[in-house]
Amino acid sequence: MVKNKKILITGGLGFIGTHLAKELLKYSNTIYLIDNFSTRKKSKIEFVNKYKKKIYFIKSGISNYKELPNLIKKVDIVYHLAASMGVENIIKKQPTNSILNNLRSTELIFQYCAQFNKRIIFTSSSEVYGLNAKTLVEDARPNLGNPKIVRWNYAYTKLTEEFLAMSYFREKKLKVTVVRLFNTVGEGQTNKNGMVIASFFAQALKGESITVYGDGKQSRTFTYVKDVIYSLLKLSLSKNSYGEIVNIGGLNKISIIFLAKKIIKITKSKSKIKFIKLKKIYGEGAEDGKQGMPSLKKLEHLINYRPNTKLDEILKIIFKKKKV
Ligand code: UDP
Repeated sequence: MVKNKKILITGGLGFIGTHLAKELLKYSNTIYLIDNFSTRKKSKIEFVNKYKKKIYFIKSGISNYKELPNLIKKVDIVYHLAASMGVENIIKKQPTNSILNNLRSTELIFQYCAQFNKRIIFTSSSEVYGLNAKTLVEDARPNLGNPKIVRWNYAYTKLTEEFLAMSYFREKKLKVTVVRLFNTVGEGQTNKNGMVIASFFAQALKGESITVYGDGKQSRTFTYVKDVIYSLLKLSLSKNSYGEIVNIGGLNKISIIFLAKKIIKITKSKSKIKFIKLKKIYGEGAEDGKQGMPSLKKLEHLINYRPNTKLDEILKIIFKKKKV
């Protein structure tokens, strides 16, 4: 395990960041979190207060943090999770800022990690495969849409950041691993950014309509956050994963309509399903579709592990936490 290290987590107060920080705290690591409080201010303040004696917090964006080089200089490992994300942000509120913010912050993180020879794990997304419905091996060709369609902003931006990671690896020997996360879910995830499982639970528990976008036949693979954390930690110790791009994904693929029905059943909700046109959510020319299953061979080869929590178990865990 990652022990007695100095760690920087960017986006450290996000859903994955807080789970990662809590796990790292168990093994006498010193943790620095940088976060701009972009989502869920209240629960972030609670997290900050709870752990303030154990973690160093920096409340700032990455690109405007003047001390960033000094911060990176003093740590051993960087987990670069910070990103503008979520349909609400990327598509509706601030598409241009999201692109620029993601590119700028990642550029700086790579630059300083290369300069100070630091280990870095960069989180990309299964979005980069686009509507490729085959088994998604890491070197599969992406099937992305037209740049005029705002929905693809995030995928192209993450792919560009991946290119930058590979360039830094080749030219500057950056000790980087790119991980492509497949819809990470679990307890503590907000429904504020349109994340589907958190949104459906919130709607079902309030007895509101379950909003299924499009015909609901589009599918996703969901990965339990604790499995993701374990994979990230193991990967950060694997020298063989320098310069690699690796999927971290779950075991089941499910259509969104079937997911909605499952959540109604688990919560014993009286909510009805309401179909909402894709165009209304993602804008003109919107498209969504079947996503392939991740190939987990590379991950397993590198760390001798693959995520193993089934979707039904994940949903049960989330529901149990919501009840207490
Ligand atoms: N989705 C939906 N209703 C919602 C939120 C999301 O039908 O209230 C659909 C969305 O169109 C997509 C899937 O659920 O097909 C996953 O959406 P999410 O935003 O969670 O993740 P991503 O699109 O990034 O995979």
